[in-house]
Amino acid sequence: MVQQEALAAVLSDFARTLATDFPIQGILDHLVERIVDVLPITAAGVTLIRPDENPQYIAASNADALRFEQMQTEFDEGPCLDAYRTGEAVAVPDLATDRRFGLFGPPAVAAGLAAVFTFPLRSAGGRLGALDLYRDAPGELAAEDLEAAQTLADVAAAYLLNAQARDEASSASDRFRHIALHDPLTGLPNRLLLQQRLEHLALRGSRTHAMAAILFADLDGFKRVNDTHGHQVGDQLLLAVAQRLTHLIRPGDTLCRYAGDEFVFLCEDVQTQADAEQLATRIDAAFSHPFQLDEFLELTVTASIGMAFAGPGEDITDQLLVEADTAMYQAKRRGGAAHQLIDLREASAAAIRRDMEIDLRAAMERGQLALAYQPIVRTADCLVTGVEALLRWCHPERGQVDADTAIRLAEGSGQISKIGSWVLMQACRDHATWSCRGGRPDLAVNVSPRQLMEPAFLSTVTNVVTRAKMNPASLILEITENVLIDDLARATTVLDDLRTLGIRIALDDFGTGYSSLSYLRQLPIDIVKIDQSFVADIGRTPSGSAMISAVTDLAHLVGLTVVAEGVETQQQRDIVLAAGCELAQGYFYAHPQPASTIALQHDRYFTTPLRLTDTATTTAGS
Ligand code: C2E
Ligand code: MG
Ligand code: MG
Repeated sequence: MVQQEALAAVLSDFARTLATDFPIQGILDHLVERIVDVLPITAAGVTLIRPDENPQYIAASNADALRFEQMQTEFDEGPCLDAYRTGEAVAVPDLATDRRFGLFGPPAVAAGLAAVFTFPLRSAGGRLGALDLYRDAPGELAAEDLEAAQTLADVAAAYLLNAQARDEASSASDRFRHIALHDPLTGLPNRLLLQQRLEHLALRGSRTHAMAAILFADLDGFKRVNDTHGHQVGDQLLLAVAQRLTHLIRPGDTLCRYAGDEFVFLCEDVQTQADAEQLATRIDAAFSHPFQLDEFLELTVTASIGMAFAGPGEDITDQLLVEADTAMYQAKRRGGAAHQLIDLREASAAAIRRDMEIDLRAAMERGQLALAYQPIVRTADCLVTGVEALLRWCHPERGQVDADTAIRLAEGSGQISKIGSWVLMQACRDHATWSCRGGRPDLAVNVSPRQLMEPAFLSTVTNVVTRAKMNPASLILEITENVLIDDLARATTVLDDLRTLGIRIALDDFGTGYSSLSYLRQLPIDIVKIDQSFVADIGRTPSGSAMISAVTDLAHLVGLTVVAEGVETQQQRDIVLAAGCELAQGYFYAHPQPASTIALQHDRYFTTPLRLTDTATTTAGS
């Protein structure tokens, strides 16, 4: 007969041990061990059963019990399975005489089993399995013992349910984790997992001086595949590439789909740079034969591969990835279909450019952008007819950044419309303050090709001019020949529209670009600005002055006004005047000035002729 205290001790023991995340196997082992102490039996076992699955998690207090459990599973017959299937306890006080178990009974008796008592592990929705008590002598168990056994079985079942739910939750979270860290198309690790592996490697590297290499592969012309064959074929190609690349990795390496058509190899424990080179050569080779996408479609695609390497003792950081990416772009710029180790000199120039693009983004808000104005004068009497607005960027560390650089950065980083609009708005505002004091000068504003081609350009100009209450006839937009080369038809339409508003168009830096004289006849322009390099040639080359005369004559022939740029000396001024250029601009007359200077010296600039002697003191802002 079971001692009530002994049972209570087992139950509280259960409660203590199993309250936390004890594993299922541990729960069962614990149950069978303790039950043998409490009840008059020789061994105990548990089998867990799930519908449509083989019985599992067999726990046993000794080898005999384990055998009896396994025998019932093998024969698919026995008191254990009956208890599970019926949900009722099954008592077999004398197995030798019992006729219910024709398969299990005889071998079990031969193995020394005399009596079996089994109890279902009950749960609300059914059974989880059964608890089996074994004795080596026949005989009944007392009613209290049977009751105690069922109580233990019920308690164990409750804990098992808990543990199963925990297991399921954790395997679900494993599944979610897998989804979060892998690319759904190719099944390869994604960028996040690569990042984690890289961090892990960085930690390990700092302890073990491990070396690592990153190879960044980007397909050449993948966009064309998508555009020509559609995204579905694009996806098929990516999958085929992923499969081919997977064959190249060694144990411990990570191949990840980093983004669209970018794949990254993270190679841990490379011994020398040559190891990484070898892999790169194998990747090159992997793209040397076509990808068979289906019965009818075969595509050939190459990849540009960038490599970066962290040698012994060097930190393994994100920077390695950035360097491999940069090297990949270097490979692309050199024509693609090859691999390339990072060229640090080129890379540092690219890094500086990237930094400056970021700085430029903040420059406007931080008041680092300004405009300088350079007078444009009439060559005949030195009277100022207008000013040209020129961008100035005062960088907090680099000082003055020249306008050409600032504009190139703005164009390259998609900031040109924002900055161009600001220039136009600020220039029109400044112009309004001078105009209200008389002497209405023209305002010339430079417009970059990209800016002119923006769909919203015309409406931006209209808005700004209207808001500044400016007479459009005072505004001159300066464009360069590049814009005409890119898309002549569209540029012509935009220029026509601007001229319809009354705005004039000047062709800037004439002579430096394509310089087709026939443009001068065809284009909707009003003014030609002869580039300063021609003016600089005056007196230096015999043809210097002749060129200026020729261009000026031709421009006049088609009704254009001519401005000579970069006039620095008296001789140059005399020649451009003699050549018939109506207007001129250059240090001979005035350097570009801050808006405040022009406002302060309004009368000097706009009502009296600008003289050579005046310019000596006015060099700020140039
Ligand atoms: P640009 O439109 O041909 O402007 C004339 C450039 O020549 C200015 O350089 C001016 O400072 C310089 N300059 C003027 N007189 C002389 C001279 O006598 N001798 C010499 N050597 N140079 C002289 P800056 O300000 O550096 O501007 C360079 C270029 O940057 C401009 O050439 C223009 O193409 C572009 N740029 C300037 N501001 C803007 C802007 O707001 N928007 C756009 N899209 N481009 C701009
Ligand atoms: Mg200009
Ligand atoms: Mg120019």
